[in-house]
Amino acid sequence: MRRKIIAGNWKMNMNFSEADDLLALIIADIDDNAKPVDVDVVICPPAVYLELATDMASGKAVLIGAQNVSSFENGAYTGEISAAMLESLEVDYAIVGHSERRKYFNESNEELTSKVKLLLAHGITPIFCCGELLDDRNDDRHMEVVSNQIGDTIFHLAGEEFQKLVIAYEPVWAIGTGKTATPGQAQEMHAFIRALIAKKYSRETADQCRILYGGSCNASNAAELFSKQDVDGGLIGGASLNADDFALIIRSA
Ligand code: PEP
Repeated sequence: MRRKIIAGNWKMNMNFSEADDLLALIIADIDDNAKPVDVDVVICPPAVYLELATDMASGKAVLIGAQNVSSFENGAYTGEISAAMLESLEVDYAIVGHSERRKYFNESNEELTSKVKLLLAHGITPIFCCGELLDDRNDDRHMEVVSNQIGDTIFHLAGEEFQKLVIAYEPVWAIGTGKTATPGQAQEMHAFIRALIAKKYSRETADQCRILYGGSCNASNAAELFSKQDVDGGLIGGASLNADDFALIIRSA
């Protein structure tokens, strides 16, 4: 059985003391109420708070993820943060290819492939994001778009590498908009992605791959989305900035 993941993407929000407070509340809630045993909770704060977060999460049932990583190994790349640096901070996960990074930072498939490979080489689990624009869905091209995003990047991995990553299906039209994919739309795409993996690698690899849903997932709609057979949890943006909402989402998994 696949363990579910609830991952909070804090994006570029909060100052240091706000981040400290929110993480303390999330950890306290998990300590007090215990999260479901088959759920992994991951918090992805801004990079400058990663050291704080890995310190606070040490020994707790919370894992820490980065929101991005450099596509370069090391060297003269001012402002970049390498996979080796994340590893040295004991970061467990890293988001790769979030639609905001594809849109505002023009991340290419080559860069995304390099990021995934570097993360895997440093023992960090990539959460690889894919998802179509609204126009793609309206033109009935959503399957083709997602298939290309995956085929041009993570399908370059060898089978044993692929088995270590997590996929997040995030329809771009649902991110931060309050418009969620219906549970049926999410299930249809997740099953499609799983079928692609089975065809490329094996049925076993497809069955063990965790595929998260992201896009305006909140405390009210999470349970129905997560009840779908191929939805293995969520990548949560806005609703992860509120400890009470995030706790409810964790308990919906
Ligand atoms: C995200 O940032 O990955 C996300 C899904 O955001 P939101 O939940 O706010 O739509």
